[in-house]
Amino acid sequence: MKNEELNPYLNDISEYSLRPTHLKDFIGQGNVKENLKIFIESAKKRHIAMDHVLFFGPPGLGKTTLSQIVSKELGVNFKATSGPILAKAGDLAALLTNLKEHDVLFIDEIHRINHLVEEVLYPAMEDFQLDLMIGDGPAARSVRIDLPHFTLIGATTRSGMISSPLRDRFGIQLRLEFYNKEELKIIIAKNAEILGISIADNGSDEIAKRSRGTPRIAVRLLKRVRDFAIVNGLNIIDKNIADLALKRLDVDEFGLDSMDKKYLQCILDYYNGGPVGVDTLAAVLSEKRETIEEVIEPYILQKGLVQRTSRGRVLTLEGYKYLGATPRSNSNNYEGELL
Ligand code: ADP
Repeated sequence: MKNEELNPYLNDISEYSLRPTHLKDFIGQGNVKENLKIFIESAKKRHIAMDHVLFFGPPGLGKTTLSQIVSKELGVNFKATSGPILAKAGDLAALLTNLKEHDVLFIDEIHRINHLVEEVLYPAMEDFQLDLMIGDGPAARSVRIDLPHFTLIGATTRSGMISSPLRDRFGIQLRLEFYNKEELKIIIAKNAEILGISIADNGSDEIAKRSRGTPRIAVRLLKRVRDFAIVNGLNIIDKNIADLALKRLDVDEFGLDSMDKKYLQCILDYYNGGPVGVDTLAAVLSEKRETIEEVIEPYILQKGLVQRTSRGRVLTLEGYKYLGATPRSNSNNYEGELL
């Protein structure tokens, strides 16, 4: 794409429109994609609703995108909601009764669903029936409503927080993994094309390296680097402008940002490298425990900078190295059962 085709008004392009809409355009997650393809084909051939699907994995890896793709590939409607929004059984009942035959109902953050709503889900998932209580006191009676056969797709960042009765009702359970650099480079190049900006191989390489294995971060960083490129009058994103922009955004060469660094530094400075419990870290960093566990830690753990043990979080040798510190000689870091 040439400079004159660079359209700054595309800045506002919504993230939604950057999502791939077909399985063939979805980069990475090879196994998950292959399996989904089979399940989709089979459901289509048998003219039935696809079995319920549970996606799990850290935020930004494509759970919502894949769910939308599944509904598109099945040729059915996509209705979305999220666990914390479904406060009452009636909220879920309203959604379920409005579904059409074989539709997809997507529930994001399904681990945060309230238990009363969860109880309504069981017969809905298993027998496509809704049991509702009408009225209260002695006049209360239960009514049973037949539901259309639908596919529930649940997404969660915390598979361990889903009750086993709920988890067992998902016939298809798929874990999304972090993306490798090559996959992220393709995603970045495709998104650059949609945004109308050229990107050199070394530019996408630099952004990919610093995207924490996560497409959502890759797309976000690309947009910010694009802003720097435009303001600097460049018609192509290369390594130099990517490096400059990412440094200004405080994203280092490992992809760690200021919050990650604060997290690591806190374990080192206040707790001598650990062990320290996650609740204590949350309090010191003024962050929610969930944010630490779901957003900050997955990548740091994957990079091997910290270990999760039964006694709390401990810096690994890699973690010390990253912070430019030396482990204490009387370090008892590696005691405790690894979780
Ligand atoms: P999650 O639901 O797991 O938090 P999303 O599906 O919302 O993640 O994806 C976050 C962003 O990353 C979206 O803008 C989407 O376009 C992009 N994305 C995720 N996975 C891919 C992929 N495999 N290929 C291209 N873009 C992707």
